[in-house]
Amino acid sequence: MREKNVSAQILDGSATAAAIREDLAAQVKELTAGGKRAPGLAVVLVGDDPASHIYVKNKVNACKKTGIQSWLFQFPADATPSAVLSKLHELNEDNSVDGILVQLPLPKHIDTEEVLEAISPEKDADGLHCLNVGLLATGKAGPRPCTPLGVIRLLERYGVDPNGQTAVVIGRSNLVGKPVALMLLEKNATVTMCHSKSKNLDQIARGADILVVAAGRPQMVTASWIKPGAVVIDVGIHRATNDKGESKIVGDVEFDGAAQVASKITPVPGGVGPMTIAMLLSNTVQNYRKRMNVRETSPALK
Ligand code: NAD
Repeated sequence: MREKNVSAQILDGSATAAAIREDLAAQVKELTAGGKRAPGLAVVLVGDDPASHIYVKNKVNACKKTGIQSWLFQFPADATPSAVLSKLHELNEDNSVDGILVQLPLPKHIDTEEVLEAISPEKDADGLHCLNVGLLATGKAGPRPCTPLGVIRLLERYGVDPNGQTAVVIGRSNLVGKPVALMLLEKNATVTMCHSKSKNLDQIARGADILVVAAGRPQMVTASWIKPGAVVIDVGIHRATNDKGESKIVGDVEFDGAAQVASKITPVPGGVGPMTIAMLLSNTVQNYRKRMNVRETSPALK
C-alpha cells in the first residue's frame, strides 16, 4: 500500500495483525472443535492510567474475536503489592490460564520487576520474565516480548531481511529497545543501540538500513535523520494537539517528511500497535500448545 504524497511503502500493521488474528482464530476453532478447552489469557490492570485502560480493553476484545478466553482483573491505584502478587500466584495455579499479562506501567509503589518475576515463566504472555529474557539473550526458544516480536513479524511480512543489514535502535527499555535489538541481532543484523545519553544520534541514525525508534519522544526523528531507502519502524505512540486544538495520534517519527525518504515505513496509528496485540494472542496460543502438548499445524506462526 502507498499513500498519496508518500513515496515509501506503508508497512500496514493493521492488515498484517488482522491476518494473524484470523489464522489464530482458525487454530483455536480447530482445537476447541476437537473437544479441547480454549486458550486463556488473564490480564491484570492496576490503577487509573487512561491509556492502559484503552490498551487492556483492546486486548480483551481481540481475545474475544479470536476465541481466546480472557479475564480482566482490575486493582485500584493504591492496591498493595501483596494483593497483586497473590492474584498472580492464584493465576499461576489456575489450569485454564495459559497467558498472564500485567499491563505496564504499574503505580510507582509497586516493584515492576518483582511483579513480572511472580508470573510463572511458562504463562508469561509478554516474555518479560527474566528467565524468558535470558532465553532470548541466549538465542533459545521462549515467549518473546510482544512489541519487538510484532516489529520482527512486520518486517518478515514485507520481505525485509535484516541479515547483514545495519540496524539502529533508538531506545533501550526492557520492554522494547533491548529485546528488539536482540531479535535483530538474532536475525544477523549489525545492531547499534542508542539511548538518551547517545551523542550524534542523527548521524548514527543516518547509517541505518533499518531504523527502529522507541524513544517515547513525539516526532523526534525527522527526514534528515533517515538514510534514503531505509526501512523505518516507529514504535512510539503519543496523543498530540495541533495549533487548532485538534488532537491526533503521532509516533516518534515525523511521518510526512520521513515517508519521502524511507523505502518502507510504519504509520502511527496502524503500524506496530496492532501487531503488539496480535503477538499477545499468538504468545497465549503458543503457551497453550506447550502446556497442553498440542503441536502446531499452521505454518503461519512458525
Ligand atoms: P521508555 O520510556 O521506557 O524508554 C525510552 C527509551 O528511549 C529509553 O531507553 C531512553 O534512554 C531512550 N530515550 C529517551 N529520550 C531519548 C532521546 N532524546 N534520544 C535518544 N534516546 C532517548 O519507553 P518504552 O516503553 O520503550 O516505549 C517507547 C515508546 O514506544 C513510547 O512512546 C511508548 O508509548 C511506545 N510503545 C508503543 C507500543 C506499541 O504497541 N505501539 C508498545 C510499547 C511502547
